[in-house]
Amino acid sequence: MDDINILCTDILSIKRTMDVTDWFGRASGAKLKRDKTQAQFFGPWLHTETRGLDLTVKATDLKILGVKFDSNGGGIRQRLGFWQLRQLTLEGKVLIIKTVILPLLLLLCSIFYPPRFFLLALDREIFYFLWGSKWERLRREVMKRAPEHGGKGVPDPHLVLGAQYTALHIKYATAPFREHKTVAMARFRMGSYLRSLKILTVDLRIPIAFNLPPAYDFIKKFLKHFNLEKENITVLTNHRSILSVVQEREKVSPVPGLTLGEAERVWREVSHSALQNKHKDLAWMVAHEILPVRAVMHSRGMGKDATCPRPGCGRPETVRHALWECSAARDLWAMAGPLQFPWLPVGGVPDYRMVRGGAIQRKKPPKKEIDLWITINCIKDAIWTSRNLLVGKHVQVSLPATHQLASSRRQEYAVRCHSDVGAGASQGGLHSNRP
Ligand SMILES: [Zn+2]
Repeated sequence: MDDINILCTDILSIKRTMDVTDWFGRASGAKLKRDKTQAQFFGPWLHTETRGLDLTVKATDLKILGVKFDSNGGGIRQRLGFWQLRQLTLEGKVLIIKTVILPLLLLLCSIFYPPRFFLLALDREIFYFLWGSKWERLRREVMKRAPEHGGKGVPDPHLVLGAQYTALHIKYATAPFREHKTVAMARFRMGSYLRSLKILTVDLRIPIAFNLPPAYDFIKKFLKHFNLEKENITVLTNHRSILSVVQEREKVSPVPGLTLGEAERVWREVSHSALQNKHKDLAWMVAHEILPVRAVMHSRGMGKDATCPRPGCGRPETVRHALWECSAARDLWAMAGPLQFPWLPVGGVPDYRMVRGGAIQRKKPPKKEIDLWITINCIKDAIWTSRNLLVGKHVQVSLPATHQLASSRRQEYAVRCHSDVGAGASQGGLHSNRP
């Protein structure tokens, strides 16, 4: 006999259960292994009451479906730690969270509501995994926005798991089958609350409870927190609709010096499906100005020096300086023209706005525009790689070598284009040689 849970209210019931099981075993040939059977006590029990039991008594560690609601995030840390060993881009890490981590919890959390401390712990583990350290370079709220709103689409455990739980239980309570036990129970317990939301009509023939039990109080708090109390029943019984309603209300992150409409355009370019994941990350960090250049590190108390690492420069190294204004970067941009990169306009890239967000104002054929945007990102990648080699390994990369690096990065796209003609081929790669 395997995996059987029995709930008992007193010690006598446990002893009777064991006797009945043995009696059943004599007839069926099955045997209960007493040394492997475990008991767990909930509520105020005295030590003298629980002593006479010939079972192993566990005090804590209630594990359901391999997950434990604890302040360590239920073993999620170990699983994420395993993925941490691989060099993944932020895009790849978000994919891991969505496809490997959250599915572990979805089934469990649609039955038992996840406690607050568990959700907080889970959130902490996810962001620790994303940044690889306790230093988070951007507010979590911004990271959780959709890519077209300037975020990275990091799933919010409270929203995702809560939406699943809420949708399932409201669906039970509003199901048309009246005799079904689960439906009747959910309607009895949640009835008065759902009536106040005008989801259930008042029916005086059916009894309802006036106080919400903790399991359904979670739903009330969830709807209040995400301001969903006024939504109709079709939204509230479908977890995907709940997620999309919350996502539609998100604000667009501003980009310094641009209007909100232009910022939206920048975020679309930054998360363009034609870009490699590492270039999406780089462009996104540049637009948020969180690339770990010295001025950014210094302003957050992480570096002692804010000046540019290039010899003889001496100016503060901001994101703009590192990628556009520094002499090394300037030389490369000046050198890169339509002769070496046929996708660049005549006279090269005109200004930093274009470096940061692509050709925002221009109206070009889309194919040409995306080729230009890919090329710009390859050059940015080459500048950033040479800068990291200088800071990390003290290797001075010459201008022609940086140029060579940019064109080989551009070449990767051409090869990819030829080998995978199918759409979205550039999205699949998890690997990165991000410095
Ligand atoms: Zn410089």
